[in-house]
Amino acid sequence: MILHKTILQLVFIFCCISCKTSYPTQQPVQGYIISNVTVIDAVNPVRGPVDVWIVDDQINTIAEQIDNGARRIDATGQYLIPGLWDFHVHLTFERDLEDRIFDLFLMNGITSVRDTGGKMHLVQPMKELAASDPDRYPRVKIAGPLLDGLPRVYDGSSAGRPDISQGLGSVAAVNQKVDELVEQGVDLLKAYEMLSPEQYKALLARAKMHGLKVTGHIPLSMTVDQAASEGLASIEHMRNLEMSMSEHRDEYLAERQGLLKAKKDTSGYALRSYMHKTYRVPSVKSISETHKQDVLESLRANHTWQVPTLALVLSGRLKVFGDLEWRKTFDYLPAEMEVAWIKYAEEIIESTSGSPDPAYMDWAADMIREFEDHDIGVVAGTDCPIFFLTPGFSLHRELETLVDHGKLTNQEALYAATVRPAAYFDMQDQIGTVEAGKIADLILLQKNPLDDISHTSSINAVIKNGVMYDHAALSKMKADLKAN
Ligand SMILES: [Zn+2]
Repeated sequence: MILHKTILQLVFIFCCISCKTSYPTQQPVQGYIISNVTVIDAVNPVRGPVDVWIVDDQINTIAEQIDNGARRIDATGQYLIPGLWDFHVHLTFERDLEDRIFDLFLMNGITSVRDTGGKMHLVQPMKELAASDPDRYPRVKIAGPLLDGLPRVYDGSSAGRPDISQGLGSVAAVNQKVDELVEQGVDLLKAYEMLSPEQYKALLARAKMHGLKVTGHIPLSMTVDQAASEGLASIEHMRNLEMSMSEHRDEYLAERQGLLKAKKDTSGYALRSYMHKTYRVPSVKSISETHKQDVLESLRANHTWQVPTLALVLSGRLKVFGDLEWRKTFDYLPAEMEVAWIKYAEEIIESTSGSPDPAYMDWAADMIREFEDHDIGVVAGTDCPIFFLTPGFSLHRELETLVDHGKLTNQEALYAATVRPAAYFDMQDQIGTVEAGKIADLILLQKNPLDDISHTSSINAVIKNGVMYDHAALSKMKADLKAN
């Protein structure tokens, strides 16, 4: 059952005199009270059991007891947490998911997402659709296409390299494209790996002029320090951080720059793969403690946050594709996609090609604690629906991975999916914690996530913009997706 605010607004009752929280008489008692619930967020002390009164799209009051006559929903023994963000999604990567991806987020308590790459004519309608019904659809922030140099990496030449980028041949082209995207309403920009240092600097400067943040991968032609000091707001997948930590940093950088100049005619995808293959593992096997500290200090000083997508980066170790329990989440995909994903998973399992070098995954997992300890913000994102990451479900898996392999505490992981992403978009006063005056994007859990972060998926109800989707509503949503 979905509680409609408009209906509840019609309910009038008089406030009783014995209320601990009292209100003027003859006022309509709107909204509903989630009663006797334990309130948890990543900033405030655990509160409860308390009553939480939701009116319209807001948390109105949190108090020990609220008896104002508003409808009560008994949540004894349950936990109320903020709605979660998935900070790295691709809404239009699998076109067949577009009509259900928002439901997948909702049923998993994901109330905000950041799209980190897609063509504007595809992602912009998704953003508009989301904004058309904020009582159901997530808050959507979009970066537009990956802004790449030439040759570009994602050029649409095969299914695995969809056309989600814009190849830019000059500094002037960068400036023009940034202006165009700003005009079209992007919320941030994404810098990609084949940009030249000149193009990259122009992109950052132009974005700053428009007041937009830039996320990205470190361009192959640059070091972390060079890129971060231009004001890069965040880095996805820790991409290309390792080379700057190597004792061979200068030599590797010079080689890379030479290759980028010499191989202009190669495909961008092939060239990038070659460079990752050539420099990634040797870099993590030759980390210089001094250079590593330089990188960490540069990221800290420039407030360059990390969206490590750790579950994706460790997929060679976690082998999500072989996990039969995880495959149950494929039931919620369109039938043809479910079959295709399972087929692809079996092919990977049967493939005899060597598994990724564990040294890189060890390094990646170790970096998470280093970031947190160096005050470099870690944000939870997945890269769904890429590489078997079922939208919605995969965010919970990312949180578990950040704790189990990244050694974050349960509270730090919760922070990474609530408070920090809200602050990235300067929305910390509106969402991210459970406090009076904040937007009511909330999840009601059966179990305490501070005991075990996997409890974020023990979802009993989801509240989006004040509208509650209870257990029955979520079950129906799941059944409908399974049937199609
Ligand atoms: Zn991505």
